[in-house]
Amino acid sequence: MVDIVLAHATVVTMNARREILRNGAVAIENNKIVDVGKTENIKPKYKADVELDCTGKLVLPGLIDCHVHLAQALLRGCADDLSLVSWLQERVHPMQGTYSPKVGELSAKLCCIEMIKSGTTCFIESGLHWRYGFNEIAGVVDAIGIRAALSKKLMNLRGYADIPDAIVESMVEDGETTMRQTLEMVRKWHGKANNRIHVWFGARTPGGCTVKFYRKIAENARKNRTGITIHLGEVQQDIKYMRREFKMTPMEFMQHCGVVGPHVIYAHGVWIPQKDFRILRETKGTVCHCPASNLKLASGFAPIPEMIKAGVNVALGCDGGPSNNCYDMIREMKLAAIVHKARLLDPEVLPAEQVLAMATVNGARATLWGEELGSLETGKLADLIVVDQHKPHLVPVRNPISNFVYAANGGDVDTVIIDGKIIMQGRKVKTLDEEGVLEKVREEGLTPDKRLGLNISSSWPVR
Ligand SMILES: [Zn+2]
Repeated sequence: MVDIVLAHATVVTMNARREILRNGAVAIENNKIVDVGKTENIKPKYKADVELDCTGKLVLPGLIDCHVHLAQALLRGCADDLSLVSWLQERVHPMQGTYSPKVGELSAKLCCIEMIKSGTTCFIESGLHWRYGFNEIAGVVDAIGIRAALSKKLMNLRGYADIPDAIVESMVEDGETTMRQTLEMVRKWHGKANNRIHVWFGARTPGGCTVKFYRKIAENARKNRTGITIHLGEVQQDIKYMRREFKMTPMEFMQHCGVVGPHVIYAHGVWIPQKDFRILRETKGTVCHCPASNLKLASGFAPIPEMIKAGVNVALGCDGGPSNNCYDMIREMKLAAIVHKARLLDPEVLPAEQVLAMATVNGARATLWGEELGSLETGKLADLIVVDQHKPHLVPVRNPISNFVYAANGGDVDTVIIDGKIIMQGRKVKTLDEEGVLEKVREEGLTPDKRLGLNISSSWPVR
């Protein structure tokens, strides 16, 4: 007797041999996958409480978004087509600086619903300011049933790259307090919700922390056996700052600060030079590629195929509402797969299969769940998605991975299972009142604008 059997599916296992099973099945008991194989073998073997007929559908490991700003879902469209400094200092930071835990909680609910509905089952939150309400947000993750590493933002300087005092007053936090709060949250939430919630250290970008403080972050993350995530080399000013102040490249600087290891995710990595790839490979850190954000903010092109060739682990992330402006990993996969082909004038780089690996197994390696996630194999955690292929834009099927990466979008995800529980079925989220959240966003979603007296609209006349 098992809890769930998904049968008659095209199963994309992402196992070491990268097998794809026609008329395949997956059996789930509690929160684990107990068997994967052909339907004709799995069905007679197990009696299931719930059997999902997945005829015409794809079953894949849940997607892992390694760079998310939960609090920015409410800031969608707040800073389009602006230069980075105006984007940050005139819009994003001041708006986030008005947040109360109530606003942070609403943004987190909206963001989690959007992620689940587009196939993300696990994510890394890049750094929560205390004013967003860490406890309330962790409560949202617990209730909705998604898997997450939630990072608390840590800082003890006010700079951002080579811009001193870049952090607006309402977003400034002090070193001692951010460290105390992070350790408190680690004690309170790390490993909670059946080990579905982890707490990480969200170190601010160089310019936001002293070397001594980075070392303290590294030491405490190691002591608590948890991860660190940091924006690194997102903008060109970032490398200028490290070169001017420390005469180092970004990864030399990270090594100098002790912020290296398999438990570290460097978001963006646009301006990480080739010289640093060896340090990345040897210290086994992960670069999280965020192509939509890098393109929209004109940050540049991260050298992703070059990093992969050098043996660096590269995952994928959607970043946030003002930079992307959505949290759909399927759309992100397509961008990642196509942008480097044109940049390098080489259509053979980053094939669809490699990009799907970035969003699954590579992402899993970057998380502390590591070997437990990322593929559909016996003994792994039951985080998986079902994608409906019976759509005009998804037929005919020659290569299901090609259709999934190049032609699908988040709206094609039909069913989501996380930690063995059906969180969404037939596109209906079962764990949260989606309509209620949308209604509340309609009523209160522009609270940050109102608090700042901003009136953000189209540049065209709106009558
Ligand atoms: Zn970010």
